[in-house]
Amino acid sequence: MEIVHIAAECYPVAKVGGLADVVGALPKYQSEAGHLVRVVIPHYDTKFINDNQFDFVYSGFVKLGNFNFPFDILKEKTSILGFELYLVQISELFDRKEVYGYEDDTERFLSFQIACLNWINSRATFPDIIHCHDHHTGLIPFMMQYANKYEKLRNVQTVITIHNAIYQGQFGFDKLYYLPEFDLSKVTVLEWDNKINSLATAIKCASAVSTVSPNFLNEVNNFGYGLESLFNFVRHKSRGILNGIDTEVWNPEQDKMIFANYSIKSVEKGKQQNKEKLCSQFNLDPTKPLFSFIGRLLDEKGADLLPHAAASALSENFRDINILILGSGNAAIENQLSHLVTSFKGNYNFFIGYNEELAHQMYAGSDFLLMPSRVEPCGLNQMYSFRYGTIPIVRRTGGLKDTVTDIGDNGNGICHDQASIVDICYSIQRAVKLYKDKKRFKNIRKIGMTIDHSWERVCQEYIEMYHLKTNMK
Ligand code: ADP
Repeated sequence: MEIVHIAAECYPVAKVGGLADVVGALPKYQSEAGHLVRVVIPHYDTKFINDNQFDFVYSGFVKLGNFNFPFDILKEKTSILGFELYLVQISELFDRKEVYGYEDDTERFLSFQIACLNWINSRATFPDIIHCHDHHTGLIPFMMQYANKYEKLRNVQTVITIHNAIYQGQFGFDKLYYLPEFDLSKVTVLEWDNKINSLATAIKCASAVSTVSPNFLNEVNNFGYGLESLFNFVRHKSRGILNGIDTEVWNPEQDKMIFANYSIKSVEKGKQQNKEKLCSQFNLDPTKPLFSFIGRLLDEKGADLLPHAAASALSENFRDINILILGSGNAAIENQLSHLVTSFKGNYNFFIGYNEELAHQMYAGSDFLLMPSRVEPCGLNQMYSFRYGTIPIVRRTGGLKDTVTDIGDNGNGICHDQASIVDICYSIQRAVKLYKDKKRFKNIRKIGMTIDHSWERVCQEYIEMYHLKTNMK
């Protein structure tokens, strides 16, 4: 089967969050399972892209209303990532450091989608599946169905996987003329809440819809960021498939980014070594339990609660704990978290920014990982934590509910129901108690390390979903 994944991110080429991890891993395991897998993302100005070599494959033009953008398709020479990686180079729009956050993001990602289809449409044979990820690729299924120039692609099956339903790629109908000529009787398919909505359009038009955890699929059927009625309507073609993790990249036995490698057998010593190094780097006390947070500093992650929760927990516990935070995002949250560094010197620290290496070191060196998320479609951090023997403390939401069970129910982590300062502090207290009960703590740490979240198993679920669709052709 030939599968083409189209996305905005792919680890290690360009990463902002979990989307990249999935698009860098699922294709690799699908390839290993014997499928021909291609991944297409934009050509950004990133280290991976600058350090690797590419062959020229195709060139064309994207017509976006009155604009005409020349584009090239480049293919990474050696398939170093375990699948064929293709880049869409539209210099004017994508030769930039960041993946998102520009005023012309609508024009950028629409051009990307049109360039992808122009190229695929020019091929002599077509893929079996075009697998789109998130709203940045959400208009592809629509254009394949209704744009005149892509008529040949009409029988190719499409999948939309939703990694995040908050961002929906909305824009006004004043930009309708950007789209290639299509059957105008279908214009309402693009509409949701009086706007063109890329994600809603993908949900309507794709042959199949998946979310990145079963529980998140249930949640969006009740509260779907304005799309709940649509999610209900497409229930028959929807699946919740829990993400896996790349066990080659995230492996404490071989991870080159951490200070000391360890296995389940040597976990106590290994984690202690990693913790001591991390604590000395951040001026923390390695004899106290270390609580970490890694992620985007946004309300959806519950990051707005962190400054008060950290201050209360550190005060309540008479500095018997350490807290280390890695992330960037909302400037007000960043400021509040920075201020705590002087107040709780020796027990608290904060690294502002994105740092892949430090993230690995924190999974390895921490005792507990905080995830007080309001929204978590799947969440990968808790799965990385398990693998590195770090016990997650999570709010029961989305994929966190699917993957973490409270220790009170013979589980593997600590759970709370509310995204509140009180709930976070109470969970930290429970964790401190657990930490002091060394035998139980070590046992729970080991239970987490034995969980199988590998992609090998998950990737089969995607293949089954594709088969159901291709058989219906
Ligand atoms: P989301 O995609 O919503 O951000 P996920 O839990 O699915 O959340 O994935 C987050 C991924 O991004 C993980 O690989 C995590 O380690 C990584 N990450 C998030 N913030 C940072 C950061 N500041 N530095 C390094 N890695 C980060």
